[in-house]
Amino acid sequence: MCGIIAYFGKKDVAPILIDGLKRLEYRGYDSAGVCLLNNGELFMAKVKGRVSELEKLALNLKHSNIGIAHTRWATHGEPSEVNAHPHFDCKNEIAVVHNGIIENYTTLKEILEKEGHKFISKTDTEVLSHLIEKFYNNNLEEAVTKALELVVGTFGIAVVCKKENKIVVARRGSPIVLGVGEGENIIASDAVAVLPFTKKVIYLNDNEMVVLTDNKYEIKNFDGQIVEKEIDEIKWTAAEIEKKGFKHFMLKEIFEQPASIENTLRGRIDENLNIKLSIDNIDLKSIKRITIVACGTAWHAGLIGKYLIEKIAGIPTDVDYASEFRYRNPIVREGDLVIAISQSGETADTLAALREAKLKGAKTLGIINVVGSTIGREVDSGIYLHAGPEIAVAATKSFPCMLTGLILFSLFLAQANGKDADKELLEELNSLPEKIQEILDKSQDILLLAKKFKDTKNFFFLGRGVNFPSALEGALKLKETSYIHAEGYPAAEMKHGPIALVDPELVSVFFAMNDHTYAKILSNMEEVRARGGQIIAVVNEANSDILNLTKNVIVVPKCREELMPIISAIPLQLLAYYIADLRGFDVDKPKNLAKSVTVE
Ligand code: GLU
Repeated sequence: MCGIIAYFGKKDVAPILIDGLKRLEYRGYDSAGVCLLNNGELFMAKVKGRVSELEKLALNLKHSNIGIAHTRWATHGEPSEVNAHPHFDCKNEIAVVHNGIIENYTTLKEILEKEGHKFISKTDTEVLSHLIEKFYNNNLEEAVTKALELVVGTFGIAVVCKKENKIVVARRGSPIVLGVGEGENIIASDAVAVLPFTKKVIYLNDNEMVVLTDNKYEIKNFDGQIVEKEIDEIKWTAAEIEKKGFKHFMLKEIFEQPASIENTLRGRIDENLNIKLSIDNIDLKSIKRITIVACGTAWHAGLIGKYLIEKIAGIPTDVDYASEFRYRNPIVREGDLVIAISQSGETADTLAALREAKLKGAKTLGIINVVGSTIGREVDSGIYLHAGPEIAVAATKSFPCMLTGLILFSLFLAQANGKDADKELLEELNSLPEKIQEILDKSQDILLLAKKFKDTKNFFFLGRGVNFPSALEGALKLKETSYIHAEGYPAAEMKHGPIALVDPELVSVFFAMNDHTYAKILSNMEEVRARGGQIIAVVNEANSDILNLTKNVIVVPKCREELMPIISAIPLQLLAYYIADLRGFDVDKPKNLAKSVTVE
């Protein structure tokens, strides 16, 4: 979380930084700030709140062509102007923007305070500017390196000092990408912010730093040795990170799903229905057990992944919250494969779990959207989703693409282990984009449901089998965008407790599609109805059994059970979106949240 951006070039820097911050704002929007360097002087502006509020202040600062900026998702210290980045040293000569957490900041702060440093904020970050000041002896790089030696935790930082015409950037644990331009260089937390300038990028690894000076960048490790790195090319276009006439990124991304899934599938099923994936560094025949690690929506995809892998490839699979896997000394044995799923490829908990798994000797596979991301680079092999940039904080298009990736992997694993191809499933996979388009074409029906239920206070989302994780995802989408209390349960679990909450105010969303649990789910719907609860049903057919229980139906195209979670995710994303919008919320930037969760 937190977005940082820094520019050293020939152009007026303030508009560049503001534009970059707007593109990074999905990473946090508690406060924003900039610091510009001009002729041995620093000029700073900070605000609590959004980048739009910083804009005017920043554009009125003295003209400059060197600067750093930040948009914050607070971890330490409430969102306020004083806690906004950049943070300074005692003499206001050194300015730092930071993404990450300095875990030993209280110890460092005590030491620095004893030495006479005065702190003004409640952030962990402020120890960095004071530590750099402590070591500063007319060489910013050296001071930054010495300071970082004492730091425990994660950081992506950009630092300027009024006495030197340079920007020093360093990373450990938080993403940093360098955009290499003509006579200008730009640094950001995410390639979306450098894309308007250049498609040429270099991804920094942990314990590397970049020093930007006039016309030049130099990458070093923390021992001061020069590191030669290859320049990558971003595949996304600048147009892909615009709203293209949609009211919100979330709506645009929901409507992009037919194309995104096509992109995930492209080139991966040949004319003989063989799966083609470049998983070269893993011996698929030797895998005995799989553990999927992920967080949030990706964890829900993982739960469905368990069902898919076990059903299609017959390999026992567990799913863990990445944050739990990491800290419980997991057992990893020979023949274990750990799959990390993450849209951004930077999710700190998932990255930490992946590193733990590697340390213990597991083979690792990434299911990732952002090409060049840290997880993408650290896994043995990966499946990139090619879903295109996802800007809205609430994940939408990445979810069905993760599921598509998991189906492809399951089929590939089955194929590698000599199983016959499931031709029907493969054909149905290819028809997914069309089926999703059918649902999107009827989005106005879902808007009507949203209007009817927008003031509901409590929702249950209930499904069985492969639709149970979909219920979790439906509930998550609604609560994170609309701030309505929503819980997902396996439908049969209702009678073991939650059914006590059913009353005429509570709305239960049931997944009642034509799978082998259909008859059972109808009984669960009866149980809710008998207690006066309201029902919305996602069905394949609005038959009389369903219509006797509820008139609130969402009809989705029939498909194989393995594909149901992909199909059923779409109307629930729309329902969450429309309810949030009708309630007047900032759908793309829900309160307290940020995307690309780079803190543990
Ligand atoms: N820990 C810093 C703060 O609270 C940065 C937070 C982050 O990167 O999310 O200001």
